[in-house]
Amino acid sequence: MPLRRSLILAAPALGMACTAPDAELPAGPAAAPRPVTALTPGGLRVHAIQTGWVRVKRRHRSYAGPDALRLPAILLDRAWTEWLPILCYAIEHPEGLFLLDTGETAAAMDPAHFACTRGDAVFYGRNLRFQVRPEEEAAAQLRALGLDPGAVRTVVMTHLHSDHAGGMGGFPRAEFLVSRADAGGHLGTLTCRLPAASRLRPVEHDGPPDGAFAASHPITRDRRLRLVPTPGHSPAHQSLLIVEGDRRWLLAGDAAFDQGQVARGEMAGIVADPGSARGTLEVLRREIEEQGTVLLPAHDAEAPSRLRRAMA
Ligand SMILES: [Zn+2]
Repeated sequence: MPLRRSLILAAPALGMACTAPDAELPAGPAAAPRPVTALTPGGLRVHAIQTGWVRVKRRHRSYAGPDALRLPAILLDRAWTEWLPILCYAIEHPEGLFLLDTGETAAAMDPAHFACTRGDAVFYGRNLRFQVRPEEEAAAQLRALGLDPGAVRTVVMTHLHSDHAGGMGGFPRAEFLVSRADAGGHLGTLTCRLPAASRLRPVEHDGPPDGAFAASHPITRDRRLRLVPTPGHSPAHQSLLIVEGDRRWLLAGDAAFDQGQVARGEMAGIVADPGSARGTLEVLRREIEEQGTVLLPAHDAEAPSRLRRAMA
């Protein structure tokens, strides 16, 4: 049974059968840290922007059991992770201001935000907790950096989960680049919260192999910004590679929760396609080992300081 269909069928029943798992959750975390800005040797200014915090079930982050039990294991887990950052990235490039993901919106503090479908409401309601203040939204933080959200014309979407797509509304003139197979939505996409379909631009990874990646797709004329396929977390999850000579940085979304997970070869729990996710984990390991690429995932608390160190 496809994962989406099994979730829709299973989630309401599981939601009704279990008691609320929130008792162990402490008060929300402090305000998100200020953005971290680093300069590449070639003069690109890269900002790591934290749009609040998210907690997930431990088996959502890491799961080693049978694939067939993956989703029920997450739904029934009562143990939460610590609060994790929700990171997106802005890149000041001579060809424009680019964004990688849009982070979460403060509207996520209202459970009604997730009620696009019954399955969405149950999954987000049971399995994720958010802490996002209005001033932590990506557009607000860009303004605080002196950058105009209206100037953003291209946003690379690694995938369409709420904590990556929630801030899309803050970029009224942008076009959102989504892998073709994910563009219609995938498990965990809040389709009722997406902008008009005309602003989603499906892209193919139709360029040559690049490092450990099977394909690539440059999005700037100077080819310093390239999309690469990192499927598994969503069916066609993509990442953004920044390349200058032999220096490489990978803005990796949810291809892995953190760098330690790649080093350990540890599978995340919430994957749409376990076979692809295993392949991506191996590709990331090779890319880091062979190319010295700096990995910058969306929920890795060390990513901003890694960005700053790598570009120092
Ligand atoms: Zn995700």
